Amino acid sequence: MRFFRRHKQVGPEGEVPAEQGVVEVEVQVAVDEAAEAPDEQVPPAAEPEVAAADATQREVSEPPEGASPTRSAAPAAPRRGLFARLRQALSRGLFGALGDLLRGRKEIDAELLEELEALLIGSDLGVQTTLDILGTVEERVARKELSDPVAIRGVIRDHLIATLKASEAPLTLAAGSGPAVLLIIGVNGSGKTTTIGKLAHRLREEGRKVVIAAADTYRAAAAEQLGIWADRAGAPLVRKDAGADPAAVVFDALRYARDEASDVVIIDTAGRLHTEVNLMEQLAKIRRVASREFPGAPHETLLVLDGTTGQNAISQAELFHRYTQITGLVLTKLDGTAKGGIVVAISAKLGIPVKLIGLGEGLADLRDFEIEPFVDALMGND
Ligand code: GDP
Ligand code: MG
Repeated sequence: MRFFRRHKQVGPEGEVPAEQGVVEVEVQVAVDEAAEAPDEQVPPAAEPEVAAADATQREVSEPPEGASPTRSAAPAAPRRGLFARLRQALSRGLFGALGDLLRGRKEIDAELLEELEALLIGSDLGVQTTLDILGTVEERVARKELSDPVAIRGVIRDHLIATLKASEAPLTLAAGSGPAVLLIIGVNGSGKTTTIGKLAHRLREEGRKVVIAAADTYRAAAAEQLGIWADRAGAPLVRKDAGADPAAVVFDALRYARDEASDVVIIDTAGRLHTEVNLMEQLAKIRRVASREFPGAPHETLLVLDGTTGQNAISQAELFHRYTQITGLVLTKLDGTAKGGIVVAISAKLGIPVKLIGLGEGLADLRDFEIEPFVDALMGND
């Protein structure tokens, strides 16, 4: 504690001001009246848009000819290349300075600990993780178990790995009978649509039948953008006109998946509505529709966070977490940030596993989150 108190800019609780992290609120005409008065009793089939959408009227864009799992335009880049990219991005950050900080030091003294604290905080690891690491170092120095400054690296590495492992979980892609249903949520610009394209591509490469649901009906352009990604990935897109009930799109997509015996349904959602409450109710309604169609669905609710936004990503995670059950995180744009420490901060704070990371805008730039390579990249270890 004594080191931390000197850094006032983080705030007394180590929190950023709340207004930095809220879903943007926009005053606009309501597009989803149904979401304002969700009716648990009425099955979605009784709603006009859904009732009208039988197999013939459902709008489905089939993938272009020749789009097959094995004939993809962009073969997956070698693993090592992507982690090298991650390491390159992250090592530009404060963690790159860890080597400089520790090099040439003879002993672990108060001055070193203070500099270390500033470095850890600046790396967006979060206050708790920073204090825990400093506490461990001090304790071990006091017990004479630690004296070489360079050995601090090992303490940090162990702590970060342990923190991330506490909530480790793989992506759920098997759902017993019926498709695995993946609900993708997050604020606008976080990378939802791009992630869906990349994920669909990957799953197709693995030989799975994938359907994408364009349930962001709030912005007219959203379904167009998603359609481009769906084509690239070779996955059919289920969509309706802008302003349609997103839950109805989901209903259609799930029926389509049932008819086609699809393996995975990926649902894109709006990043903002006219109010935060509307957005959260819309997500709740989508969840209800999904679970009625396939018990246990959605099997994953993945919150997409822009890794370059630092502490703001935590505020977003807390907001969504308050309203909806999140089963995993997707951290995007880690190719463009030196602040990968945010991944650890979110894990420590919310106990939600990070499942996927985005490392670029190409089809192949999505990876499973692997804890040890990630921590090594973060720390600039070879
Ligand atoms: P959405 O509003 O949540 O659907 O976000 P989009 O998928 O439209 O992405 C917003 C912007 O972020 C786009 O310009 C994407 O190309 C970009 N983006 C998404 N993921 C990544 C990533 O992993 N790395 C980089 N560098 N850019 C990304
Ligand atoms: Mg989008």
